[in-house]
Amino acid sequence: MAEPLEIAGISASPGVAVGPAHLATQMAPVAVEFPNTSAVERQDLQEAIAAAIAELTALAERSDEESAGILDFQIEMLLDPALMEMAEERLAAGDGAALAWVGALDLYIAGIAEAPDEQVRARAVDVIDIRNRVLGALTGRPIGDFPPGSVFVGKDLEPSLFLAHDWTDGGGVVLFDGSVSSHVAMLARTRSIPMVVATGPFEIDEGERVLVDATAATVIVAPDDTHIRKTEARAGSTGAAVKLDAGGLAHTIDGAEIRLSAIINDPAELAVVDASSFAGIGLLRTEFLVASPADALNEEKHYAIYREALRWAGAAPVTIRMLDLGGDKTLPGIGGKSSDSFMGLRGVRLLLARPELARVQARTLLRAAAYGNLEVLLPMITVPDEIDAMREIFEEEAADLLRRGMQTRMPEIGMMVEVPAAALTLDGFSNAAFFSFGTNDLAQYLMAASRASSAVAGLYDAAAPVVCRLIAQGVERANAMKKPIGICGEMASDPRHLPALLAAGLRHFSVAPNCIADVRSAIAGLRSDGLPAVERN
Ligand code: PEP
Ligand code: MG
Repeated sequence: MAEPLEIAGISASPGVAVGPAHLATQMAPVAVEFPNTSAVERQDLQEAIAAAIAELTALAERSDEESAGILDFQIEMLLDPALMEMAEERLAAGDGAALAWVGALDLYIAGIAEAPDEQVRARAVDVIDIRNRVLGALTGRPIGDFPPGSVFVGKDLEPSLFLAHDWTDGGGVVLFDGSVSSHVAMLARTRSIPMVVATGPFEIDEGERVLVDATAATVIVAPDDTHIRKTEARAGSTGAAVKLDAGGLAHTIDGAEIRLSAIINDPAELAVVDASSFAGIGLLRTEFLVASPADALNEEKHYAIYREALRWAGAAPVTIRMLDLGGDKTLPGIGGKSSDSFMGLRGVRLLLARPELARVQARTLLRAAAYGNLEVLLPMITVPDEIDAMREIFEEEAADLLRRGMQTRMPEIGMMVEVPAAALTLDGFSNAAFFSFGTNDLAQYLMAASRASSAVAGLYDAAAPVVCRLIAQGVERANAMKKPIGICGEMASDPRHLPALLAAGLRHFSVAPNCIADVRSAIAGLRSDGLPAVERN
């Protein structure tokens, strides 16, 4: 039997996992970017259209004559080669099947909605129906998954691959590179999947047993049974108790009121996180709710989750961030060309460049806003014009929904403050309803040090004082503008940073649910200027 080999790393998500290693060193990073040629995407779209026709035919056979007539009309439309031709141009330009289909159909629907003839206009709803049915059939080609229960070992792990994997049988993640601030690390913490990063490369065979002791930040290759038992027993005896039902407010020792909202990355969290411990949701990351381009463009899929989040929060605000795709959060066929990276077509830039995507989400947000205290947060805002352009999309979609007799409400639209240019010029953003500091990105852009790289993790960590100086300036400006300001970056979930964040004047923190107990008790021991309760001099 091989001798156990112990490797030290950095803990990105605590806990213990044991399982066979899945080696991903050969995985091409391009796999989650544009894996499919336009011919493959065309074939996917044709197959989805054929599946939709088959569904409609079966439905028509079970329907009464009048309903069958409507369904036959939809089948006729899907058989019309003109629809496929409309999507062709976009496929040739590099769009994935889902984006090409929705883009083409939305243009067609807009044309019908403008028609002078009432009867033609009434057909728009049929086209919307077939658009959604094909989208439903277009679930996308699965990206390279790995066996359930195994420990993923590789240079890095894409968030989309993490999300597509079934973790119910356990398992863990070991990354040669990577950092605690990457999106995949955040997801691992959300789902309590043990993860160790920055181990450097090491030798291990596919299927070889590996123990991930993420609480101790070590990885043991070929561990013996005694070692596993001891580690698991130690892990089982820890675990901080979360104080439930504590309300969404905390108070510093001198009585300053601090609002604590939840960060939600995964709709499954809504079933297990106690809503009464939070003042609503300060950040709902929508890019993690969708596993394929077809899902991202699927209005009903978004709608169901937004309604569930509003139900969870009751009367409290739910801040839903529009898709922040790009950088390390990519979907095949939508954004994320490597040349775009973190500095390119990411967040609101991508949404404005691909308005089909923005329009789907705007419609859903407008509809859901009628049912609760919903606010919209725009990612990666750099200049005020981006907010105006997005507001215009919301206004156009609201007018369209109104024409179709649907209930809507225009939500407040606020912005992430995560690009240094925006952070330095907050007074120019009178068109934003509120500000939310995204310190995860602000730190990397300020330090020119990638949040995803272990090689520059020291520099990234050193950003805290610089970030806090910008926050203090931002809070002053926001107060002068009488606009709410808060933080939704990971700094707010780390008690070590709370003194500086309080000193910078922040009073609204969005926090990862599994950190709420620590954050709450840290605030209770601090004054509003961030100093400890007992100061001896
Ligand atoms: C941030 O940048 O701080 C943030 C909250 O957004 P994300 O981590 O999703 O980029
Ligand atoms: Mg960000």
